[in-house]
Amino acid sequence: MACYRVQCNIAGQEENVRNMLLTFDPQAQITADAEQGFVFEVLTFEHGERGFSAIGRFSGSDSVLEERLIDCEIGDPRYPEADLDRRIRERIRLLCLRLMIRATGQTASPWGILTGIRPTKMYFYLSALGFSADEIRERLVAVYGLTPAKADLVRAVAQVEKPFLNNPADQVGIYIGIPFCPTRCHYCSFASYPLSTHGHHVPRFLEALAREIQAVSACLQSTGLKVNCLYVGGGTPTALPDDAFESLMHLLPQSFRIPAQGEFTIEAGRPDTISPRKAMIIKAAGANRVSVNPQTMHDKTLAIIGRGHTAAEVCRAVECIRAAGIATLNMDLIAGLPGETRDDMAQTLAAIQKLAPENLTVHTLAIKRAAQWRHNLADYDLPSADETAAMVELAAQVASRMGMHPYYLYRQRFILANLENLGFSLPGNESPYNIQMIEERQTVVGLGGGGVTRLVRPESGKIERLFNPKCPATYVSRIEEIISGKVKSIESLFH
Ligand code: SF4
Repeated sequence: MACYRVQCNIAGQEENVRNMLLTFDPQAQITADAEQGFVFEVLTFEHGERGFSAIGRFSGSDSVLEERLIDCEIGDPRYPEADLDRRIRERIRLLCLRLMIRATGQTASPWGILTGIRPTKMYFYLSALGFSADEIRERLVAVYGLTPAKADLVRAVAQVEKPFLNNPADQVGIYIGIPFCPTRCHYCSFASYPLSTHGHHVPRFLEALAREIQAVSACLQSTGLKVNCLYVGGGTPTALPDDAFESLMHLLPQSFRIPAQGEFTIEAGRPDTISPRKAMIIKAAGANRVSVNPQTMHDKTLAIIGRGHTAAEVCRAVECIRAAGIATLNMDLIAGLPGETRDDMAQTLAAIQKLAPENLTVHTLAIKRAAQWRHNLADYDLPSADETAAMVELAAQVASRMGMHPYYLYRQRFILANLENLGFSLPGNESPYNIQMIEERQTVVGLGGGGVTRLVRPESGKIERLFNPKCPATYVSRIEEIISGKVKSIESLFH
């Protein structure tokens, strides 16, 4: 583990330099001890009419490296003056990145200095300032340090997303969180409680949820807001007992009227929770998109990660969805699962290709703090960064052969090989909900366990977030307070 001491002569930038250093080397120790480790300094810095210039120095045990960054682009008049600090911070980060690459000989993250989870937001920020698609791509590589392949990906995704981002201000999305699953997968960090230990909470949870649904429905009607997408996630909503699931599926279309071209998705992540009856209930409720998530089609890996189902059950679940006539099927995969190689991914993709989903979402494994396996991660044989990157690349090639294009993109902390999660779709089957969740241009009201509400101010685009408790017992005990706070916030924003 490398130790670094950071010095920076630019007021307020030391934290920025530290963060970039940790982005490059998450294991690094940053210490104030002058005698220890490498010294990382930003020596000079000027910003004036001729642009930006800075010199950074990296002093190792037996060498000293210096790097000069000169940038005239920072003065482009299309940038608002108010954003100057932000651009200076970005240039300092780029200087750090270049020095670290030279000093360590390591390859940089393919995402360069971008640490946010939504790289396409940068594209739309520059686009709104008047930069063309080519100019943005150029800047993503030169100023933000993205590889040309990632810059092309950002541009491709942004161009698919664009038509979904100009909805009228009276449109909102709804998310319903059902925080129960048959068992908890070892890597899971979602609001998910095993039915074996928390099943007794289901009846009271659903009563509280019905109250929240009715209150939000009435509030949307009184404020004149219209729902254009409804997403039921969790957890695994289809893990609910048949009768309870059916009651919920009756209530939703009565409470939220989704237009014919709108999206109504049900997460059925665990394929062993889908039956012909559940699929028919989903269809009868008017849902037009279901997500069945194999993660891998290898039973051995499914057992290692605690999924509690088999690849054969994935195929049976897909048969149920197809037999019920539900229009869009999404399937989630994870690249970087323990013990897997690019050959395993190739076999999984071949099996998925036969099932012919309209959407395919390829996640890269992220090691989250809330995941059960964080405590004994060393027992899991995780693939290397190169192997994981090869799996992601392979998935993109197969998705393209299936006629799909990438349509939404996000990154996570602690993601293997600093990669990304990428949603693919056949043209015309994109999930508007997923796009709205990433771009945050439209209000999404989150209900149920772990539901997050993002209220987007129509005049400024500023976002206010409200969080429902993940724990079903806490949700039930606080339901009146949750409802009144949410209704008040929606009314104050849209009245
Ligand atoms: S099915 Fe999904 S939500 Fe449920 S435990 Fe597994 S990862 Fe978590």
